Amino acid sequence: MASLISCPHCGARPKEEFSIRGDAGLIRPAPDAGADAWFDYVYLRDNPRGRHSEFWHHSSGCRRWLIVERDTVTHAVHGVRDAALSKLGGEPA
Ligand SMILES: [Zn+2]
Repeated sequence: MASLISCPHCGARPKEEFSIRGDAGLIRPAPDAGADAWFDYVYLRDNPRGRHSEFWHHSSGCRRWLIVERDTVTHAVHGVRDAALSKLGGEPA
């Protein structure tokens, strides 16, 4: 049985239509932050166990960026929201 992701714009779609693009919890350093802060931001990633928020791109659908909260152990999806609307305060974060 295919895993379905509930895109807020397209409805339930197979996960193969999406591209996972990484951790949605990263905070970009200030432009004048030191080299160590930029190195961490660009190259270092956590490998969390449990609930985790990630950027997903609906590349074979509406082409919107989404924030998907999923469990990295069970792969259960707990929530999907539009990344742009979340950033603008249109949806709860
Ligand atoms: Zn979509």
